Amino acid sequence: MKRIRLLRIGTVLLGAVYMSNVAQGAANDPFKNIATIDGTSIANPKPEDWLSNGRDYREQRFSPLAAINTGNVKDLGVAWEFRTHSVRALEATPIVANGVMFISSAWSKVFALDAKTGRQLWSYDPHVPGVWARYACCDVGNRGVAIWKGAVYVGTLDGRLVKLDAATGKPAWDISTIDRSKAYTITGAPRIVKGLVIIGNGGAEYDARGYVGAYDAQSGKLRWRFYVVPGDPARPPENAAMAAALKTWSRGKFEWWKMGGGGAPWDSMAFDPTLDLLYVGTGNGAPWNRNMRSPAGGDNLYLSSILALRPETGQLVWYYQTTPGDTWDFDSTSHMILADLPIGGVTRKVIIQAPKNGFFYVLDRETGKLISAKRYAVVTWAKGIDQTTGRPIENPAARYGNGAAVVMPSETGGHNWQPMAFDPATGLVYIPAMDGTGLFVPQKPFVYEPRAWNTGNDFAAITGAILGAVKTGKPPPPSLGYIKAWDPVTQKEVWHVPMAGSWNGGLLATAGGLVFGGGADGNFSAYDARSGGKLWSIDLTTGILAPPMSYAIDGEQYIAVLAGWGGAGGLSAFKDPHAALSKYGTNEGRLFAFRLGGRQGVAALPAEEGNIAVEPPPETADAATVQRGFDVFHRNCSVCHGFFAQSEGVVPDLRTVRSAIWDSYDAIVLGGALVDGGMASFKDALSKNDVAAIRAYVLSQAHALWDAKKGKQPAH
Ligand code: CA
Repeated sequence: MKRIRLLRIGTVLLGAVYMSNVAQGAANDPFKNIATIDGTSIANPKPEDWLSNGRDYREQRFSPLAAINTGNVKDLGVAWEFRTHSVRALEATPIVANGVMFISSAWSKVFALDAKTGRQLWSYDPHVPGVWARYACCDVGNRGVAIWKGAVYVGTLDGRLVKLDAATGKPAWDISTIDRSKAYTITGAPRIVKGLVIIGNGGAEYDARGYVGAYDAQSGKLRWRFYVVPGDPARPPENAAMAAALKTWSRGKFEWWKMGGGGAPWDSMAFDPTLDLLYVGTGNGAPWNRNMRSPAGGDNLYLSSILALRPETGQLVWYYQTTPGDTWDFDSTSHMILADLPIGGVTRKVIIQAPKNGFFYVLDRETGKLISAKRYAVVTWAKGIDQTTGRPIENPAARYGNGAAVVMPSETGGHNWQPMAFDPATGLVYIPAMDGTGLFVPQKPFVYEPRAWNTGNDFAAITGAILGAVKTGKPPPPSLGYIKAWDPVTQKEVWHVPMAGSWNGGLLATAGGLVFGGGADGNFSAYDARSGGKLWSIDLTTGILAPPMSYAIDGEQYIAVLAGWGGAGGLSAFKDPHAALSKYGTNEGRLFAFRLGGRQGVAALPAEEGNIAVEPPPETADAATVQRGFDVFHRNCSVCHGFFAQSEGVVPDLRTVRSAIWDSYDAIVLGGALVDGGMASFKDALSKNDVAAIRAYVLSQAHALWDAKKGKQPAH
């Protein structure tokens, strides 16, 4: 008894020390101040705070702090670092309020940190079932949390919305936002408007009918839901918007409402309190090929659109469709910015987006009317945007009804989710842009499989075409990445800097005249906002996707960024020799905070205990089985393990696994032996024969690599 009492006293004392440290590190009673954060605070945060995903409701990702500036940024160094102990994509923007930082990491985990020291105050693990990795096209990342009146809100990969006490991390409620029999996911950050937590979802190709929902921040009760695409035409449409949308879809052999139809609004939002409009970006159609979901054509509202909704009711006020009748996976979910710009001698209230389709749009955000649109990346699918109708002038060869089409941008987009930034002083928008080539070949016959990745694209044929091109000495051009400074008034590029790889991080602009951003190669840099000149750089030893942010404590300015590579480009693309992974052999995630006079240089973490390159077991399968194995592989495995079973290292490279793995395919793929790491059982989708065929295909790739290492055939 005595011993127990002593332990209890010890715990109380430790608790007291802990609380006083928090108080010292982060001003007096930070959580009391966080309890007052509401819509007024988020609309106009204090300069030292960053209260919503894009800092405030305008989503400009511009910090008014200027202590770190073009003159002294060369002295920037590491203030502290925090290990997330994750090896998958880190995509979140940290939220900082009153000296407390809130971040989310892979698998929707949440951490509260003392923003001055990096000390962990609490952590929360929603225990997302490993099986949900199967339903996530683009890794198990999470783009951040939202805060409101003393609570932290996170959407989880398996479609839940959780409210946590900001001071303790204890869940207040945990609700499901989805039909759990379907493969919906949440990777985006919630936004909180007028006491409502707004969150959408992903999962278009799998079986999702995309929607955005509003939940009471206090109770978690669903207040409204807006579907992006119409449901079963035999049933009455949910509202006038759905009745109008229904007229733009056509029925075919594959009934779109049984496949979901897509449109998933999986990331971007913004809010204008004066106009009382909530803006939501929507995703691509599913399957990608319009012929397979709406064979007689049609715009297929509201795919690939910017929607303006009434936040209290979810009523549609206006929409602008960037890619009518999308057939190229051209989501319009990229980050959106609200700004007031001088256009034609008048200050216009605009909304800005550079979606995947390669055009930079400036719209009147009150009416949705097009002000201007010009290409910001190499575009071949359309010649331009018709100024009168606001519609693209399509290149007829780009629609791959029956034949193949080569299209730029690729399905990865001229710009993906990685956020842009807007600097009101320079008037420029900074875009993490890409130039890539997409090859689209219709899958014949198309077979819809619920909860699988149904693109309608024939990846076996695409791979064959790419390999053929490589063999004839004409490989497709590599994807290129840039930071582009874009003038949204004149619709012209002002400067650009090339990046090492194509799949890079989001951006931050500051009043210090700086633009910050990281790359696949792990370099995190500061650029002169006016010229693009590189003024400072540090190697964080891990590829960077997440956008940086800035905050201040006790008058000192900090820059913070999460480093941890992955996502669509990190998982499934060709091996990127520029990626930090190739150099350091680890993708363990960290949050870095920087201040003037901080420590120079970052020590690499120990490389993960990786795969061992031993000679793979002999091949016994015939060529037809290997080919079938590739077909099955691309539909079920490739989004995580790469189109050629050649992962970047974010997940294991299947070609160089330990010998025991080759003998355990059934146990892993059917038995779910590695589910805790995200490799779930595929027993519901695959037979033993399928698994044998997958193994035969992967083994053929392993031998190709082994032979290449011995100096025989070149491997692709
Ligand atoms: Ca998409």
